[in-house]
Amino acid sequence: MRHINIPIFIPHAGCPFTCIFCNQRRIAAQLEALPPAMIPELVNTHLATIPPHSEIEIAFFGGSFTMMDMSLQEAYLREVSPYLQKGLVAGLRLSTRPDGIDANILEMLKKWGVDTIELGVQSFDDQVLAAAGRGTTARQATVACRLIKKYGIKLGIQLMVGLPADTPDKDLDSVQAAILLKPDMVRIYPTLVIAGTELAYLWQQGRYQELTLPDAVAIVAEMRLVFQYAEIPVIRMGLQPSQELQSAHAVLAGPYHPAFGELVEQNIFQRQAFQLLQAAQSEAGLPGSIEILVNKGDISKMVGQHRCNLAAIKEVFGINKINVIPATEIEVDDLALRLDDAINSITLKRAEFVQGLFDRGLLPDIRGLIACKPTKT
Ligand code: SF4
Repeated sequence: MRHINIPIFIPHAGCPFTCIFCNQRRIAAQLEALPPAMIPELVNTHLATIPPHSEIEIAFFGGSFTMMDMSLQEAYLREVSPYLQKGLVAGLRLSTRPDGIDANILEMLKKWGVDTIELGVQSFDDQVLAAAGRGTTARQATVACRLIKKYGIKLGIQLMVGLPADTPDKDLDSVQAAILLKPDMVRIYPTLVIAGTELAYLWQQGRYQELTLPDAVAIVAEMRLVFQYAEIPVIRMGLQPSQELQSAHAVLAGPYHPAFGELVEQNIFQRQAFQLLQAAQSEAGLPGSIEILVNKGDISKMVGQHRCNLAAIKEVFGINKINVIPATEIEVDDLALRLDDAINSITLKRAEFVQGLFDRGLLPDIRGLIACKPTKT
């Protein structure tokens, strides 16, 4: 079933915080927050265009929902609650900050039927959080995550890579801290330098070095693999290509790409194919022509943008011809290799690929962190 969010963007004009990467203040200055009374019209317009049999959620995004006055929060929720009660939508979700969570707020959200809260944790490293001007600590995030789960509300954790003082090792430490909290989903955003932010000022002064696109893709790929092994869905990698982001001069620097998540998947497939080919090469050598078998939905991830994955394989392994073939027997994210005229293929499942990275010390081994070994990835 297709999942569709009806997004309600609440620019948080009153946000008292100063996260250095945030342009909400600028957006809030340009956009009026939709008054609660206008919400039904917006939701009805969306509902009219959504195909039947979709799983629909109403999602409040944009700022820190629970930092608004409680009466305003309830005014918004009162408008969307009837859609939930009538079964027109399956859920209500919102995003907020770790310090915007306490028992009173969760009681109120639960009363109105909010069933998913996404927390902007960004990092579980206090140095990174301080450098980002986030105004929260890893401990606050941990406590908030636990409280959300205690209330039986689904937990989403948002992480960022490339913040000042951040490193790939810290990103992977944050992944491990997040896994221990057992979130229901994760989003990962690369830090972008957006005009009008404090980060833009630091960047212009030469006091912040942005991640390159290949570096951001590589680290998010590692994070995705570790989360996948822990069976925690990564529901988004990279920012939604909004009008604001795509407008000229909005993004001054940083690894922006409208299909960032797809680049990450392609990077993973390339690494997985390399591991498979290296194993085959050391066993029997490689012929000049090979077939790579993938699940039908994974063809573009294996081929890569502008066929870059195939070009890299040809160059590294000295292969002349590669056919990428959809095969029903291959599960999503798995790969198989068929050499020349061979009948049998050699398979590398995603879980085996990740275990290989753990064994070689190329990823932090989280096998001890998860209660039982995943049966699927
Ligand atoms: S990221 Fe959220 S909390 Fe930070 S300044 Fe922006 S709206 Fe406020």
